[in-house]
This record gives sequence, structure tokens and C-alpha cells, in this order.
Amino acid sequence: MRKSCIKVLKREGEPIRKALLEMDLLDNSARIISEDDHLYLPLTEELQESQLMNLPGEFELTENEFKEQKGQLKLEDLLDDIPHFEVVGDIALVEDDVPEPLKVADAIMKVKKNVKTVLAAMSPVEGEFRTRRFRTIAGETRTSTTHKEYGCRYYIDLERAYFTPRLATERSRILTQIQDGQTVVDMFAGVGPYSIMIAKKSPNIRVIAIDKNPNAVEFLRHNVKLNSATNVEAIEGDANIEAQKFASVADHVIMNLPHNANEFLDAAVKLCAPNAIIHYYDITHEDDLFESSLKLIEEAAERAGRTTELIEARIVRSYAPHQFNVCIEVKVI
Ligand code: SAM
Repeated sequence: MRKSCIKVLKREGEPIRKALLEMDLLDNSARIISEDDHLYLPLTEELQESQLMNLPGEFELTENEFKEQKGQLKLEDLLDDIPHFEVVGDIALVEDDVPEPLKVADAIMKVKKNVKTVLAAMSPVEGEFRTRRFRTIAGETRTSTTHKEYGCRYYIDLERAYFTPRLATERSRILTQIQDGQTVVDMFAGVGPYSIMIAKKSPNIRVIAIDKNPNAVEFLRHNVKLNSATNVEAIEGDANIEAQKFASVADHVIMNLPHNANEFLDAAVKLCAPNAIIHYYDITHEDDLFESSLKLIEEAAERAGRTTELIEARIVRSYAPHQFNVCIEVKVI
């Protein structure tokens, strides 16, 4: 089978293989090719620029003809229908209404050897702190784990703070926009996946990370240490109030509180140094993906006597039927 792959010198192959594995980008159904001085690592999907930038060392993106990896157990071998699930650290999360939950959990644990616990979500993401409730289907009864993403590690208790691995690519895309020496305010930082990844890019980047959930901030502080980041100021508090202490400091303001970010736009504009960029996340209907949200940002800037320039508006992922998680990036002049 012909596949996209990464061609890398054998002696430089291991860090990149590990990075691809962590990002779920290494296709385990195909056998890695070893030829002369090079390895060819098969990919599960076409890599985006932001993903490529996060891979270590020198390599080439190419294609090759791969043989099937025999003996590799696949979910298709064990289940007729593969339900949607995601893996955070060593925990697999399935929906509560998954048919035959024990069979599904058993199959996931057989195929994904690193999974030690399978949880079913008993609630949607809910409340001010955007948490969920879970029940254990199989494995160890716990909701805490350590998740690896783009070379950073995050300790999380999934019932006490928000985290999703589905934004990994989005986070890495934001990372490419942050320059050395800049200041970033992450208004809804959670356990720190934006803040810490950005802080690790350079010690000369100042990151101010705010969250109202005391548990999230506890994990955030732990994760700052876990990743040896020296440039994150972790603040527990309401973003509207805390932002007042940092007027005009930010070159980038990250507003990852879809549904409610509009309530914080005046504070976000206040944070903005001249020409700062607001990265505004929202959940919108397909009939009005960007327009209404953009208007809210423009109106907030106007109230502060500032003007705006749209940098980019894009869909991050689908959220529900006809609804999308979008990101609107606006320069505040
Ligand atoms: N950015 C993080 C991430 O990507 O994992 C967390 C995003 S989560 C969707 C939104 C976060 O906003 C939650 O951690 C929640 O506790 C926090 N939050 C909600 N209201 C807040 C407020 N008024 N001020 C600061 N943080 C708030």
C-alpha cells in the first residue's frame, strides 16, 4: 500500500518515531521500511505545516510503498462497529450510550496497550469549569492521568478540570504565530496546554495563564513544574477581573472559552498592546460561522477606541450537527 511517510536518517529516527507515536500519527498497520541509511515512517494522515514544525530534527516528507504489519491487532478485528473514543494519557474515553461497553472497553485495552482505564462520559462538558462526570467501564478506577502532547506533559484529573486532546493540532497552529520576546495572555488556561507549549518555545516569551477553576490552576502549576517552564505566571481568578491588572501587555490573547468568550471581550481588548492578536474561539452555526462573532469583537474594540483587522477566520473542528468550533483571529490596532 502506498502511503505518505517521513524519511529520516536511521541515527535520527528514534526521536521522530516517538513524537509521531505520541501524536497518533504513526501508522501501526504498515511496516516501517529500513533502506540504506534511512527509515521510512508511515503516517496515519497528511501532516499539516504546524505538525511538521513540531517534529524534531531533519527529515523529508515523501511517499513509499509499505507492507502490512502482520500480527498487529486492530479494533476492526474485534468489533463490528468501532465507536468514537479518544485517549487522554492512559485513559480511553467513550460515550455513555456506547453499545456493549464491556466488549468495547476490552477491545480498546487489547489494541491500545498503553490504555489502563476505560471511562464512559456520563455528562456533556458542563458548568462554568467545563468538566464532565465519568464512570469506569474497565481497568483502574481513576480519572487522573498524564497526557503527552508535542513533547509536553500534562497531569489532569478529567473530572476536576477540562482537557481535550482534540485541540492538539490547533494549539500547535497558534504556537507558530508566537514570536520570541512576545507576551501571551491565556485567559482560560485550564491545565495549561496552550500556555506551557508556548512557554516552552522560548524562555523569552512571557505567558500569563488565568483560570477560575482552582483545581485547573493546581494542575496548571504542577504542569509548569513538570515541563520545567520558567516563564508562566499561573493566576487563579476571573479573567474579567485579572485582565485589569495587565492592561496593554499582550501581543497575543487566547480566548478558549467557546460559548461564553463574548462576555470577556472588553477585558481582552484592554489586554492588547498595539497590533496584538486576539485568538477568539466560539461555537457557531453553519449559517453564521463567523459574522456575528466577528461583529462582537469589532464592537468591543470600538468601545475602547480601537480599530481591528481580520487576520483569519477558520473552522477548527465540527462540534455537533450543523455546529462548528471556530477560531477568529483579529488584530487590535
Ligand atoms: N484552554 C484550556 C484547554 O485548551 O484545555 C481550557 C479551555 S476550557 C474550554 C475553558 C476554561 O475556562 C476552563 O478551564 C474553565 O475553568 C475556565 N473558565 C471559565 N470561566 C472563567 C472565568 N470567568 N475566568 C477564567 N477562567 C474561566
